[in-house]
Amino acid sequence: MHLFIRCLVVIIAWTFSFNSFAIVKRTEAERGPQSVGHYWGGHLVGGKALPVQGEGYTLIRLERHNNYGHEVLIDFVQRLSQKATAHNLGSLWIGDLSARRGGRLAANHRSHQNGLDVDIFFYGEKSLQSASVVGGKTGVNKLWKPEHGELIRLTSEESVVERIFVNQGIKKHLCKQYKGASWLSKVRAAKGHANHIHVRLSCPADSHHCEAQGQPTGRAC
Ligand SMILES: [Zn+2]
Repeated sequence: MHLFIRCLVVIIAWTFSFNSFAIVKRTEAERGPQSVGHYWGGHLVGGKALPVQGEGYTLIRLERHNNYGHEVLIDFVQRLSQKATAHNLGSLWIGDLSARRGGRLAANHRSHQNGLDVDIFFYGEKSLQSASVVGGKTGVNKLWKPEHGELIRLTSEESVVERIFVNQGIKKHLCKQYKGASWLSKVRAAKGHANHIHVRLSCPADSHHCEAQGQPTGRAC
């Protein structure tokens, strides 16, 4: 009898500990998406996929499956696309976001690791996708359109956006076109980025293990 009671106690204790383990697991999943670590060394938990079809944007480079992000990023892309349409800027060409669980992308960019980066291309058609809009005295060539500048301005107005990386030729051009505009402080000159802009969002408030880069400092131009 004694042994029977002891066995019963063990079974009940085991069941309880199993249940509490299940509860812990569930809470983690319910906590929602988490951007973890740095933009260039982190990962993504519970990321959302940007739908292949959507209003005001076209997802390009689909075969790479890098269309995942923190839900703040997905919401941002969808909102910006609708805004761009409303401003007659045409459909947005969306390139890489993050991989499903974040981490390093197969392609050769270092960031895009924690679900908060997205590339938006100037042209999505295969023939022009990798064409540079940079060159000449003004910083940009004839492939550059005023609409591109307007898209960058609209993007910078989004409070979740912390940085927009563009080629230095583009930055030079924008500094002249939008002289004195304070939003230009979010637009950072970076190598490459001649056929797309790279938009980076701030760490979401509920991603406690996201490593913030901080607001950009220094003069806008
Ligand atoms: Zn990028």
